[in-house]
Amino acid sequence: MSHDHDHDHHDHSHDHDHAPVAHPPAQPDDVSPPSRHELMILAMRDLLIEKGTVSNDQLRRGFETLDSWQPSRGAQIVARAWTDPAYKARLLTDGNEAIGDFGINMGGAKLTVVENSATVQNVIVCTLCSCYPRAILGLPPDWYRSKSYRARVVIEPRKVIRELGLDIPDDVTIRVHDSLADLRYLVIPRRPETTEGWTEEQLAAIVTRDCMVGVANPRVAS
Ligand code: FE
Repeated sequence: MSHDHDHDHHDHSHDHDHAPVAHPPAQPDDVSPPSRHELMILAMRDLLIEKGTVSNDQLRRGFETLDSWQPSRGAQIVARAWTDPAYKARLLTDGNEAIGDFGINMGGAKLTVVENSATVQNVIVCTLCSCYPRAILGLPPDWYRSKSYRARVVIEPRKVIRELGLDIPDDVTIRVHDSLADLRYLVIPRRPETTEGWTEEQLAAIVTRDCMVGVANPRVAS
């Protein structure tokens, strides 16, 4: 499979008594009937396990690792970029190289980093499915995966972002970036002016997941 569909097919547990391998449910039971694609994925998993290509333990560990990735990884990267101009320049030039400083790799996908300014707000979407910089931000939120967001944000970004609670002034250009299996984006939001002298740790605390997708901006509690 060339395209990385972040659709969590592994969430579903199914009773198939004839299956050669037992799958203990890792997630709460989903009682809806499995889709054709889910059945194909489960069949493929059974085959790979039966042939000894992967083990149940390897799969479980793989999902454990995926689930352990949190937006705090991205927040640390942004905080470093805010405090270290040389690091920010590296990040904008070659995202993959720069995130190596945090021990993160994108697993083959190119990372393009875009920076918000007084005149530009960058927003990320995957119009095709739900490609997302998981290695940096963890699992995508439900709204990011929704058909409504994927279809509408490219047509009426200002309206969609407003519905998510952020008003972008008319004199700010909104740039929508469409992700692909082999191309992911990270938004560097604008650093609030009132954060002069803050440490990286303090700064990272105000960089939320949605800020790095571009539908929110960092806020300082007053
Ligand atoms: Fe996608």
